[in-house]
Amino acid sequence: MTNVIVLGAGMAGVSIALQLQKRGWSVALVDRTEPGLETSYGNAGIIQSEAVEPYAMPRDIATLLSIAIGTSNAVHYRPLTLPQHLNALLRYWWNSAPARYRGISAAYATIIAQATAEHAPLIAAAGVEHLVRREGFRVLHRSQTAMDRAVRNAERVNKEYGVTFKALSPAEFAAAEPSLVNTGAGAIHWLAPWTVSNPGALTGAYGQLFQRLGGTFVHGDADTLERTASGGWRVTTGNGPIEAEHAVVALGPWSPMLLARFGYFYPMVRKRGYHRHYRAQGTLNLPIMDDANSYVIAPMEKGLRITTGAELTGNEALPMPVQLRRAEEAAGTILKLGAPVENRPWAGVRPCMPDMLPVIGAAPKHEGLWLHFGHGHQGFTLGPATARMLAELMTGEKPYVEAAPFRPGRYA
Ligand SMILES: Cc1cc2nc3c(=O)[nH]c(=O)nc-3n(C[C@H](O)[C@H](O)[C@H](O)COP(=O)(O)OP(=O)(O)OC[C@H]3O[C@@H](n4cnc5c(N)ncnc54)[C@H](O)[C@@H]3O)c2cc1C
Repeated sequence: MTNVIVLGAGMAGVSIALQLQKRGWSVALVDRTEPGLETSYGNAGIIQSEAVEPYAMPRDIATLLSIAIGTSNAVHYRPLTLPQHLNALLRYWWNSAPARYRGISAAYATIIAQATAEHAPLIAAAGVEHLVRREGFRVLHRSQTAMDRAVRNAERVNKEYGVTFKALSPAEFAAAEPSLVNTGAGAIHWLAPWTVSNPGALTGAYGQLFQRLGGTFVHGDADTLERTASGGWRVTTGNGPIEAEHAVVALGPWSPMLLARFGYFYPMVRKRGYHRHYRAQGTLNLPIMDDANSYVIAPMEKGLRITTGAELTGNEALPMPVQLRRAEEAAGTILKLGAPVENRPWAGVRPCMPDMLPVIGAAPKHEGLWLHFGHGHQGFTLGPATARMLAELMTGEKPYVEAAPFRPGRYA
């Protein structure tokens, strides 16, 4: 008898499947496609152990104005779709007030601190060391004022959380990345993060590891989830119906839609991002985040991948990669960017909660229903770390990290 059905095989889903399997549970992992083909495929591939403070909503007038008039490349919005986001955005604004944000960051830092340690055994067991570099990534600052500000911030983060960095002069940055034709005012090199040259392949390899260890992966539609007469859970799959005592919702940006059917209303700030790969003359050693232009350019198996900031738009809205075009232009000023590899850019949604914390734990109104979603900007980083916390909650162990800040009932 299957103990648990895990719905969704992105980083969040494969990670909880592996954690429960390790504890002797019989696990069926269900996805409509293969593991790691959605958001966990399209990201910038950084296991961000430096991201101890989540992305807050900007509250200063200058930044808000630049977003409003469309000059910011960090956030782009389509005015007609704004009403759809209003509830989540108002809560995001409220949680981004300095005092609340400090508390949220303190909680966030506790899970970020576990990220690389929880990925490490999975990378080793999955045999995908070749996809991972453990040398950090760099943030380019184009003006001296921006660089000075970034150094002060990095010093503060180092003092408060122990996150390590090195400030690079323009010449040091050029020596580290010989393909760059412009190194601005230098860079902050965050030393501890890991970077992955194919994030979808890493997620897929975790999914294959789960199957090699005896787990069942099956194609199915999570929207068929229903309660059984005996109080368990049933989902219809390509192999027929599967029943289990427990179900975990790990559907990333699709999680709130499914949960609405069970009477849960989770507001989500749905931040769409785009990526595209490019050929280039020369490559990069490590990813670069261009602070002034809000994109990341990362060396990947398919070429240099540019990923963009946040677009607030309709769920089904056609792609409008304004930010990608600007990012391309900006990237062209630091290196010789060649032709795009794909005809069309990829688009996906960061599943961000308005309080910037993922939703981890028991669904408040349904026994045996567990939630593991809302990892926002750092779900690729956090999947294994929060999966361990959830598995411990499900098996009645004491969570290795304080779980209360992430409890699903906070939105009840
Ligand atoms: C542009 C961009 C850059 C990013 N960069 C980074 C980064 O560098 N580092 C980082 O840590 N994070 C990054 N992120 C965030 C990260 O990618 C996400 O937080 C993370 O991938 C979410 O994982 P998930 O498993 O929750 O969701 P997903 O990976 O989306 O998985 C959800 C799964 O559910 C399945 N599913 C959905 N509906 C159904 C259904 N009805 N039936 C069956 N299956 C279903 C999907 O097929 C999918 O496989 C980035 C995101 C974006 C968009």
